[in-house]
Amino acid sequence: MSHVAFIGLGRMGQGMAGRYLDAGFSVALWNRSKAKAEDLIARGARFAASPADAAQGADAIVTMVADDAASTAVWLGADGAATTATPGAIAIECSTVSYQHALDLAQALRQRGLVAIDCPVTGLPDTAASGKLTLLVGAEPADLERSRPFLAPLGDTIRHFGPIGAGTVYKLINNLMGAIQIAGLAEGLAIADQAGLDMKLVLESIQQGVAASPQVIRHSRRMVARDFSGATFTAALRHKDAAYAVQLAETLLPDVPVARATVEAYGKAKAYAPDDDEGRIIEVVSRPVRR
Ligand code: NAP
Repeated sequence: MSHVAFIGLGRMGQGMAGRYLDAGFSVALWNRSKAKAEDLIARGARFAASPADAAQGADAIVTMVADDAASTAVWLGADGAATTATPGAIAIECSTVSYQHALDLAQALRQRGLVAIDCPVTGLPDTAASGKLTLLVGAEPADLERSRPFLAPLGDTIRHFGPIGAGTVYKLINNLMGAIQIAGLAEGLAIADQAGLDMKLVLESIQQGVAASPQVIRHSRRMVARDFSGATFTAALRHKDAAYAVQLAETLLPDVPVARATVEAYGKAKAYAPDDDEGRIIEVVSRPVRR
């Protein structure tokens, strides 16, 4: 039986780790807060004492944590997974990290004899739990082939963008474009509201109009209703992704004014409600002008 170490059991990681159990893998788990692992432990996973403990003897190690700092800690920290991983094991970083971090991490893991790929994902937590994520891969072709048995439980669509870091490049572009759409939607709705338009009609018009994307449609309903229950993606994570995207963009283009403005907008949303739904950005822009 193949053995997987899964590290990071937030909204996404819980469902992803569960997919390995469903697929019959033996699974060792680690998360900073153990409470999030209880259901998975009840389903047969072993909770490890540390990422290093989880990685011991694993054929593949998969991580899904918040950001560069968390990724560094769980892989390269004093009790990080890389300290015990068996040479030849497959290291799959699914977290959305910065491009530079994706490169540096892969180099450090390769120096320890691991096969490293970056594999950020698109899809919401329910998509993660049902194994239908889209996997955005950066890897040498042979490394991707070796990784496939460990990617299959997570998603049925694998997009191989190129060598290490390439999956992360596309993921950051994707999430930057998403951030721009959501911030723009919040401003459009706030203007409509302040102008006294019928918001039911505005909502209907957005949903049937040319400016809509699946993401705009989803957030427009929640923003108009001011219903942010069941948060799937937080303001802090959206800000992080947009900031990483701008860091990358600034190495490639002379200026990215829209992207920079979006980072600023999400900086305010993060200061307002960091761990709540990203759609609450509308509450930040909805404060009326005093006349
Ligand atoms: P989340 O629910 O906020 O969970 C974050 C995870 O990171 C938790 O397991 C948390 O541990 C861990 N973590 C944070 N800081 C840490 C540190 N310093 N050391 C060790 N662990 C740390 O986030 P999520 O929504 O699952 O997202 C996880 C990753 O997937 C992020 O990179 C995100 O950008 C990306 N992503 C999210 C979605 C989505 O729809 N939510 C979709 C695609 C990609 P604790 O539980 O102990 O706090």
